[in-house]
Order: sequence, then structure tokens, then C-alpha cells
Amino acid sequence: MSKAGDRAEGTTQVHAGRDPAGHSGAVSIPPYRASTILFPDLDSLEARDPDYEAVRYGRTGTPTSHAFEEAMAELEGGYRAVSFGSGLQAITTALLAVLRSGDHLLMADTTYGPTRAFCQGILARMGVETSFYDPLLGAADLEALFRPNTRALFLESPGSLTFEVQDVPALAAAAKTRGCTVLMDNTWAAGVYFKPLAHGVDISLQACTKYVAGHADANLGTAICTRDAWRAVKQAAVDLGATASADDLFLGLRGLRTLSLRLARHQEAGLLLADWLAGQSEVRRVLHPARPDCPGHQIWKRDFTGASGLFTVELAPLPRPALKALVEGLRFFGMGYSWGGFESLVLPTNPRRIRTARPWAGDGTLVRFHAGLEEPADLTRDLEAGFARLREALKT
Ligand SMILES: *Cc1c(COP(=O)(O)O)cnc(C)c1O
Repeated sequence: MSKAGDRAEGTTQVHAGRDPAGHSGAVSIPPYRASTILFPDLDSLEARDPDYEAVRYGRTGTPTSHAFEEAMAELEGGYRAVSFGSGLQAITTALLAVLRSGDHLLMADTTYGPTRAFCQGILARMGVETSFYDPLLGAADLEALFRPNTRALFLESPGSLTFEVQDVPALAAAAKTRGCTVLMDNTWAAGVYFKPLAHGVDISLQACTKYVAGHADANLGTAICTRDAWRAVKQAAVDLGATASADDLFLGLRGLRTLSLRLARHQEAGLLLADWLAGQSEVRRVLHPARPDCPGHQIWKRDFTGASGLFTVELAPLPRPALKALVEGLRFFGMGYSWGGFESLVLPTNPRRIRTARPWAGDGTLVRFHAGLEEPADLTRDLEAGFARLREALKT
């Protein structure tokens, strides 16, 4: 485990992975742009890295990637981490590291759409069968889904779009008794508000594109691993040529330094907006893990130490003109995919099309919000105007 135990989370985020003495006193490690790595003599040229099967080369690691990986491992209490060019690449590479042809994979029905597509596409073609399971299953019900060839359990908590919070410790324990590897997408908690490895997960995956980079200007992922899981993930990254850009690694490290401050503000604004939205007559439910009407809220309270700024609101079914009136005229909420940057976002969404294990019931209109770092009062005023437009549109 990391050295993190003797200091506060925010302090770790400021200091992890830094080495001023190794960089002429510079506070931050620069983006090392390196393909060729030079060796001083023939013996070191020919030596293999003890950690993986390949020669040392820019693609397999630089001082910047090493610093980022060290910092992320420390943040989540892992043995070591592997960096990737995107969150999705971290997820797909970790799955390929664990699975082989003929295996069976259990995947939460609420997992990030492209993760699901990878299972149904490339993994299926490679002879790996995926079963999607209800994310709210208890360990006893999950038991029934294991097969002799089940090799891995994939969790994502809270789930994409609808924010179901999973009972990670119980599900992970059930998988471990079957000898399965447990992987989890921990992007929502940013590696801060939930620590998967402390709850039985072997490989914690994060799209650092989101909160860690934090400025909507980088694509970056990590897999934070236990000692047992790390080597296979690193080897798969080496074999697949997976790598993160020097600039994006640098931005990830830079983002990490202010992560706790930004998250606190995202949390505060998110809760405020969620409260305000819950009071609108068109809103049926607010799917925010910190609110009692969110499925799995009790588990969130037990296992998480905070909430980030992303949540969904279920409205009464809105005719398209009313939905357009709400989302198209907002001043501060941009419309687009991704989240975790400094800016607020709004995204109409529809899980009905994709869920199979737990079909999305109900006819409500779902809209996902990301609470950014703007002044919360400005965001509320923006929503007030949006709901006024929505009501006008409903009248006509
Ligand atoms: C965005 C996202 C990813 C993928 O991250 P990229 O860096 O965009 O590839 C994975 N999981 C979740 C939950 C996400 O929201």
C-alpha cells in the first residue's frame, strides 16, 4: 500500500509523484517527449526491464508517465498504476489482460456505453462471452450468474447515466471466492471519494480525462492495480502499444494538484442544483447518489466519502420542443459528451436503448447535469430561466 496513510488526502494530491531534486528544483515534472531512450553501454542496452518483456523505449515509459503512475497508485492505495491514452483504453487493455478465449465476463448493465460496445464487439469476436447483470443485485443473486468459466467481474459505481450505487465489497467478495478478477470503473469518484482496492477490487480504472485532468483538454486513463494484477496489465499495455501523450500526462499531474479543491466545489454545486431541481414540479426524481431517492444511496453513504458533480434528473415525459427549450437556451451549461472539466454541462440521455439486464422502466425524460466551477447562484439562475422557457413551451 502507499505512503498515504500518514497524511490527508489533499496533501497526497499535492505531493504524490513529485521529485524536485531530480529536476533541478523545478516544482513540476515536465512533459518528457521521448521515443528513443539511450543506453550508456551494450549491457544496459540488452538488459530487459524486470517488470515486463520488452526493451526500454519511450512507449513503455518516461519520467512523466512514471510520475503520473506513482501519483495515481498513491491516490487510490494501489501497488502500481499503468497510464493510458484514454479511459477507454485503460478499460479495454485491462480486460484483455485478464480474459482469454472461452472465458465468461460479468459486466454491470449500467457500465459506460463504449465499454459495453467493446464487450459486444471485439471481446465477443475473440470468444469471450459477456453477461450483463443488474447493478443493484446483492451478492447472493450474483452468485447464480457465475459459470465455471467466469473469469472476471466488472463493476461501475455509480453507474453511467442513471447512477445506481453498487455493493462493491459484497460483490467483489463473491467474485473472489470464485477466483475471479474484479475490475471497476471508478471515474465518477475521481479516485478520491471511493477507494476500490480497499473494497476488494483488483484493478481500478479511471478516465483521468474527467476530473483528474479536470479542464476538458486531455485524454488520459489509468489502471491502478494490486500487486497481483499489475504485471499482466502492464504487459498487455506494452504488447498493445498503449501509451499516453507526454502533454496529457503532464496535464493529469497538474490537475491532480487541485483535485480536492475542485471536487469539493463540484460537490457543493452539484448538491445545490440537485436540491433546486428536486423542487421543480416537472422533476420526478433526482438520480444523485447523495440523495435518498437514488438507488443504492444507503451504500453510497456507507462506502463513499463524497459526491462529485455529475447526476441525472428524471422529468415527466417532455415533448421535444419543451426539451429543446430547456437545454438549448442555457447560458452556462454547454451541451456535449464527457464531463469533469471546470465547466457545467447538460446532456439529454436515454438508457432505454442500451440496458438489457435491468431494462429502464418508465417514460420520463432523462437529463444529465454536470455542475461546473461557475458561481452556483449563476447556475441556479440559468436553470430557473431554462425551466421558465420549458413551461412556456408546454403551454403552446
Ligand atoms: C468518459 C468515461 C470513460 C472513458 O474515458 P475516455 O478518456 O473518454 O476514454 C470511461 N468510463 C466512464 C464512466 C466515463 O464517463
